[in-house]
Amino acid sequence: MTKHIFVTGGVVSSLGKGLTSASIGMLLERRGLRVKMQKLDPYINVDPGTMSPYQHGEVYVLDDGSETDLDLGHYERFTNGPLTRDSNYTTGQIYLSVIEKERRGEFLGKTVQVIPHITNEIKSVIQKLADEQTDVVITEIGGTVGDIESQPFLEAIRQFSLDIGKDNCLYIHLTLVPYLKAAGELKTKPTQHSVGQLREIGIQPDVLICRTERAISLEDRQKIALFCNVPSEAVIEERDKEFSIYEVPPSLVENGLDQLIIKRLRLNAGPLDMTDWRQLLHGLRNPRHEISIAVVGKYAEHKDAYKSIYEAIDHAGIRHQTQVRVARIQSETIEQEGPERLLSGYDGILVPGGFGERGIEGKIEAIRYARERRIPFFGICLGMQCAVIEFGRQVLGLENAHSTEFSKDTPHPVICLLDEQLKIVNKGGTMRLGARDARLVPGSRAHTCYQRAVVSERHRHRYEFNNDYRQRFRDHGMLLTGDSPDGNLVEIIELADHPWFLAVQFHPEFKSKPTAAHPLFAGFVRAALDRHLLRSDRSAGAAGETPASP
Ligand code: GLN
Repeated sequence: MTKHIFVTGGVVSSLGKGLTSASIGMLLERRGLRVKMQKLDPYINVDPGTMSPYQHGEVYVLDDGSETDLDLGHYERFTNGPLTRDSNYTTGQIYLSVIEKERRGEFLGKTVQVIPHITNEIKSVIQKLADEQTDVVITEIGGTVGDIESQPFLEAIRQFSLDIGKDNCLYIHLTLVPYLKAAGELKTKPTQHSVGQLREIGIQPDVLICRTERAISLEDRQKIALFCNVPSEAVIEERDKEFSIYEVPPSLVENGLDQLIIKRLRLNAGPLDMTDWRQLLHGLRNPRHEISIAVVGKYAEHKDAYKSIYEAIDHAGIRHQTQVRVARIQSETIEQEGPERLLSGYDGILVPGGFGERGIEGKIEAIRYARERRIPFFGICLGMQCAVIEFGRQVLGLENAHSTEFSKDTPHPVICLLDEQLKIVNKGGTMRLGARDARLVPGSRAHTCYQRAVVSERHRHRYEFNNDYRQRFRDHGMLLTGDSPDGNLVEIIELADHPWFLAVQFHPEFKSKPTAAHPLFAGFVRAALDRHLLRSDRSAGAAGETPASP
């Protein structure tokens, strides 16, 4: 029978519930269990696809084309269980489905209510993941205990243990134990209150994971245990990680979490092997090189807006034993201050995906700078579209070339709407979404990176390279090195006469893992590292040739 773990959060948001849930999934998988992960989000939007990155951070896209919460990125990077449309539900989706049933007359004239109709719907989406192939389902409840919006979810998970038996469910509550400088001590009261609220709803947490800046003393642990009604072995410390998020899983092991879960749920688990993960951490702590990469996007100040991009860069750094310092540069500032001032000195430039006109010209200028100064460049989705616009304007001399997304009546629509998009009116879930194959040109840089002829990558776009311009771009030296299997859509562009200039219409960042860097990110970081090494050699050489002035 499938066992269920529910992860809730208390006291404040941003405690890293997604990362903790992903770490739990990883530890159980590594003990030989088959795990499925799920996130239930209390907001009313049907999915995050139409939400601003300011509000919600990155939209994470799955193979099946669902647009999901960025925590699913943590799940995929840490675990191997399949993620699908069923891995992320929002209040909006739950209500939509109940209301559709009501319209179809499925409730036979009954009054439709939060309890039991909404809670039943929530329970059914949790139950959907429990099958013969799954030992454990981990369901993370978004938001913080006490929010009005998360009440139906908490009520549903409370009922869940009545339905399937208490012994088959485990409630894990992630909470904050803050350090008060003035008092010089850790404070347990917020945790007591948060657990108190859970218990009011009828949920007695089995395990408390306490986020804290400092070590929790035995005394504090016992106090938390007593007031929150859990055994003290179930009060797990999760101290802030100064170094890397990849330290979270081993630290939870040190605090006995995997053992505890296995014992409580009576799981039939094997031994834990963390060798590769420890090697990964060792490599991270002992890099042989250090380089810097500029990520030029619309939302520089918001570190979650390009979450998977930053992660994928880290993975490529791990692969090359290189610490990569990432500078988040807002493209609008390039429009004001010029690329030279903001971009000189970086070993590589990356322009990520995006929507909306703000900062477009800054991205285009950044790409021109990378192309002309021969700095390794990696363009992703909108980043590729901007690279096409830049090349069209500067190399082909197509004045005012643009994407029709930003200029409806440009004389040179080098990027235009996909045919399938022409009739679409609704904005939600209607882009070209999810995994599609791309064919690679043998011998191209892309092909060298991937070492395969056909790759599957995830997409999220409405616009594309305008096929009417293919020949002219080719004639001027742009290589079109990847396309859709029907040959209709350009998927990858490259420049031959450049150390590393490659851009893709898809989102490779969604398929990178800490222990398996994405081939294109690995190629890009390698090129940036080569440039860095070449430059340091040159300056060392120059210093040797010209003795320092007396
Ligand atoms: N806005 C562009 C499009 O819709 C690019 C999308 C993206 O970068 N994800 O095609």
